[in-house]
Amino acid sequence: MPYLALTEHGTEKTAFDCRDEFRRDGTRYTTFSCPFCEVGYFAKRIYGEDDEDVGKAPHFSLFPKKPHIGDCNGEPIALEEPKKKDKDVAKRVEKREYEIPEKFVQKKEQRLVLGTPGTSSVAPNGDEIRRRREVFGLIYGNARYTSSLLQTFVKAKNFLVKQAFKEAKEKALTDKDRSRLISDITASYPLELFGQILNYNSAFWSANTVKNGASECIFHAKNGAVRIRSNGFEIVSLAPPGVLNKVTAIVRYDGTADELPKSHQRLFEILRSAANAARHVKWHAYGHMSLDASSGLYTLPLINLDYLFVEFA
Ligand SMILES: [Zn+2]
Repeated sequence: MPYLALTEHGTEKTAFDCRDEFRRDGTRYTTFSCPFCEVGYFAKRIYGEDDEDVGKAPHFSLFPKKPHIGDCNGEPIALEEPKKKDKDVAKRVEKREYEIPEKFVQKKEQRLVLGTPGTSSVAPNGDEIRRRREVFGLIYGNARYTSSLLQTFVKAKNFLVKQAFKEAKEKALTDKDRSRLISDITASYPLELFGQILNYNSAFWSANTVKNGASECIFHAKNGAVRIRSNGFEIVSLAPPGVLNKVTAIVRYDGTADELPKSHQRLFEILRSAANAARHVKWHAYGHMSLDASSGLYTLPLINLDYLFVEFA
């Protein structure tokens, strides 16, 4: 399934980048083509929010009866050998049922690689197609499904948990066995957080439970009370009463709300309405949580609004 294309502006994009852009600010490209042989494509599972699509990767498709030219198959030629995987991982890979994002990455800068598609009167020949595929192979290697938005990973995790619940119901599992099934399924899907190799189980951590060590991960909590400040906001999730070893967790953002992409405007809208109505929110935030010396509370300073996902509790 091809995941690379040129847009109508001649910019090279992965299907994953296109979906991030659509979710971030509503950008929607209308024309796609193969970056190698320039045959036309259309977008699959990129523009839409269908829950059923969460378990499948976004990609590009050929139009009927318009195949790639020559040897082109729409994929870059990876010149690097794939890294050897350990046996356990390889075994689990075979069992994976869903295509969900594997790498949390920085938002990519736009790159112009080729001219505007269709402006040259000559279609690329076999040598040129191969050259382009090798160039992209060097850039993308054995590329994996990426995203620069935290919400993509939260939705994928929710999807996996939902599938586990379905399976547990079919098998009439006890609560304990269901919890084990959820852990097993989520742990079998890799998730790399900016180079940190984790999985859909180990990458997520309850914010009200103290995490030893300094590594960054995806913290989550319910019952978040929102406080909007003149220069940002705070979401405070109190420690559950009467539970040992639970702490109050805070997400703090210092920054103003000028000229934000649509997704950040939506985020501020949710936060403002939650604050005004004194409604709690459920949140996920990526970052480093530590004990703040001045407040004496566990605090996660948010460095990027793309790293926060908030829903009404
Ligand atoms: Zn092609």
